[in-house]
Amino acid sequence: MANTAAASEEQHFVLSHLSPSLAQRRLALAVVLALLVAFAITAGPLSTIQPGRIGAFVPAYATAIFVTDLLTAVLLFAQFSILRSRALLAIASGYLYTALMVIPWMLTFPGVFTPSGLLGAGLQTTNWLYSLWHAGFPMFVIAYALSKDADPTKELWHGSTGAAILSSVAATGAVVCALTLLATAGNDLMPRISVDSVRFSTLWLYVAGCLVVLIVVNLIVLWIRRRSVLDLWLMVVMCAYLIEICLISFPVPIRYSIGWYAGRVFGLVSSSLVLFVLLYEITMLYAQLLRAIGAQRREREARLMTGDAVTATIAHEVKQPLSAMITNADAGLRWLDRSVPDLDEAKVAFKQIAADGRRAGAVIGSIRAMFKRDDRGRISLDIKELIGEALALARGDLQKHRILVHTEADVQLPQVIGDRIQLQQVLLNLITNAIDSMAGEDGPRVLSVKSEVHDGVGVMVSVADTGAGIGSQDVDRIFNPLFTTKSDGMGMGLPICRSIIEAHEGRLWVAENTPRGAVFQFLLRADSGGSTAVSASVSGTVPVAAA
Ligand code: ADP
Repeated sequence: MANTAAASEEQHFVLSHLSPSLAQRRLALAVVLALLVAFAITAGPLSTIQPGRIGAFVPAYATAIFVTDLLTAVLLFAQFSILRSRALLAIASGYLYTALMVIPWMLTFPGVFTPSGLLGAGLQTTNWLYSLWHAGFPMFVIAYALSKDADPTKELWHGSTGAAILSSVAATGAVVCALTLLATAGNDLMPRISVDSVRFSTLWLYVAGCLVVLIVVNLIVLWIRRRSVLDLWLMVVMCAYLIEICLISFPVPIRYSIGWYAGRVFGLVSSSLVLFVLLYEITMLYAQLLRAIGAQRREREARLMTGDAVTATIAHEVKQPLSAMITNADAGLRWLDRSVPDLDEAKVAFKQIAADGRRAGAVIGSIRAMFKRDDRGRISLDIKELIGEALALARGDLQKHRILVHTEADVQLPQVIGDRIQLQQVLLNLITNAIDSMAGEDGPRVLSVKSEVHDGVGVMVSVADTGAGIGSQDVDRIFNPLFTTKSDGMGMGLPICRSIIEAHEGRLWVAENTPRGAVFQFLLRADSGGSTAVSASVSGTVPVAAA
């Protein structure tokens, strides 16, 4: 049952079930018109002209038919094994039938192996084999057309596909053997279809007429039940079949005439059409498969990347409050360890630990909001206040590395809309990076944090340092997740900053600082309805080391 469900799922992708597109219908029509034009040119008086016998023509033609029909049969059997459609089994057996019938036809063809042909009785045998071959294939096509629209529970094969294919191959082989036996050993029992080893009897014309009727019936059935790409191309095959029979038989059947040769060429065209369409379809499916695998891999990588990014972000953002907690806990213990414990200082340290703990909790909450793109925590904020808080949090490191802090702000600076914790994280990340960059450099160490009105509608914050600066080879990469040049770096700070600022509909970029170092700048939307933060401390230089 599961196999059957999978088979009906897969039907949407193969030509025996796909509806033909307008382009495919037009192409099929163009092929039929081209066949008719070729027919009009080769039919009539021209068809009776005899350019002479080309010795290698029949073996070459038969080999080509054998190979193309066998390949078509193999591909159709393969489709049957996936889709389990009885109709496909019928048409695959039809192609196998023509591939096998061409063998005795070539062997008995007069003049190919022996003057009167192997096995048989000259043209009499060859013509019967040809008629049986060309009558048999349309029978398979009718079986295909009649079974393809049956109730799916009856149309789909529920048993073993291998056994079904083997029995079809065996049955088709047996039919071909029986017909060959009839046309060769039982030759005397068959009505005379040829007068001698060269000329055809009038019976041939009746046989050819019956073949024409059979093919026309086929075309009608296919037309009425046409649904899929395969139906469309089988109709074209039947048209080529029809033209082949007409060219070979009418007005008079003459071997090695232009009509006869042209008929064979039409035979080859009809034999190879479905193979070409199948090969085209397989190539298309292959391309689709490659695209699907690529998309699947990209999706998996994106999911892994998000997972990596979440864990790395949490680790990165929680590191700072945790180290602050450890430092404060050590300090608190030292105050208590004194011979006369200083309880007030210890209390300050413990309060600080509690504050850092709360901040760590808030940071985790804001990371969740960031990945969920949740903007519920957005409020109107004074950016200068946030800068002050971030500098206070980094005070320990600023003091340690003897960095001079310079702040500057426009007098009429508007409030901004944002998430307090997230924007604080951005400032803290940029300040920490600036400290890291200056820590290894000699010369003056100055951190400048500037906030100014931008274009009247935004606020631009710049964090500039006098550190090592960013090498031209790294400028394009520093915002990439996991890119770091530090031995203990995680490469998540800047991507997090950019992601936060962009979630606030702002922009973050980097530029060179003069005379040295880097300057990171970000732009935020001003709160149009909010108040303007007028601060007394417009500009100031604080040697944090002394603060
Ligand atoms: P991390 O700090 O963990 O390395 P970031 O994403 O914050 O991760 O930074 C990525 C890289 O960008 C750093 O390793 C560093 O090379 C470079 N970088 C960031 N800020 C600065 C700066 N102010 N000066 C020089 N280089 C910087």
